[in-house]
Amino acid sequence: MIRLCNEILPNETSDKFVAVTIGDLGENDRTKIFDIVAAAPPLYRDLFFRFADKINITCTESSGMFLRPGCNLPDGKTISETSQIRLNLVNDRVNPRGAFYTFFHEAAHMIDWYLGQGKSYFTSYTGDLSQELYDSLEMDVRNKLIEIAREKVACPPSKISDSEADDLVIRVVENIIAGERMTRNNVVTAADELQLATGQEMRARLRGNDAPDRNKDNMVNVSSIFEGITNKALRCGCTDNHKPYYWYKKCGRISGAHQREFFANHYAYAMLGNQVALENERQYFPSAIVILDEMINAMRDIALGMGAENDEK
Ligand SMILES: [Zn+2]
Repeated sequence: MIRLCNEILPNETSDKFVAVTIGDLGENDRTKIFDIVAAAPPLYRDLFFRFADKINITCTESSGMFLRPGCNLPDGKTISETSQIRLNLVNDRVNPRGAFYTFFHEAAHMIDWYLGQGKSYFTSYTGDLSQELYDSLEMDVRNKLIEIAREKVACPPSKISDSEADDLVIRVVENIIAGERMTRNNVVTAADELQLATGQEMRARLRGNDAPDRNKDNMVNVSSIFEGITNKALRCGCTDNHKPYYWYKKCGRISGAHQREFFANHYAYAMLGNQVALENERQYFPSAIVILDEMINAMRDIALGMGAENDEK
């Protein structure tokens, strides 16, 4: 078959998706998910369809989880041939982030894993592009914190010089980025005071308190990355509580979770067409979103290539 445009069409693959064994998912949910996929932007839809036959859902009462093949479970068992998506379907149907948000978030991890071709998650290990994505996330977080710290240091008018104020702002922001948590009880110096005020203001904004149509449910990708870059120093309680060393390894190196979660949350919002959430991402991550877009296009190209190889066999 000749494809005039380089994309997978819903009518070409809907049978494939419907025929797939997807564990505990009932007909009703399957239809609703299919309607969402059919209406999604082609770039994102293609990625979903290419790996739709890998989806195996198990309903649980806990929050969502993607289990790759070969991963170990707490009870000592190992996930065998296929991957698994675990989610609380009852909650996900009425997810305030959008119906089936968790399903698409975990599906994104699945896509990411299969594109990594058994080595790792694609978004975490692709060398330059992966590092570039992490660096741009960190830069965007730093710039936002500098902006807020500057507002705080200028109000009320401080007696220090401009250059002293600049030094203070930089020092405070680097402390926050390094994961230093400041509480009222720890405040001793003017720098501590600024650090506390900057952190409090940032957390309020991550909860979406500064704009009428913004709320914690359309700020998940933003709040998750601010929490991650600052190694939980800016945790605002809007996202899942990840285990220690989730964002950074014990040795301090980046774990790949930042890139992986940024992609998964973005993918879920894009599939559901949550425009407010996508605009929030663009505002908070003006440079990282450009890199992510480049990465997703590369992922789609590889996914279609993988499909072509398989089709020929
Ligand atoms: Zn995730």
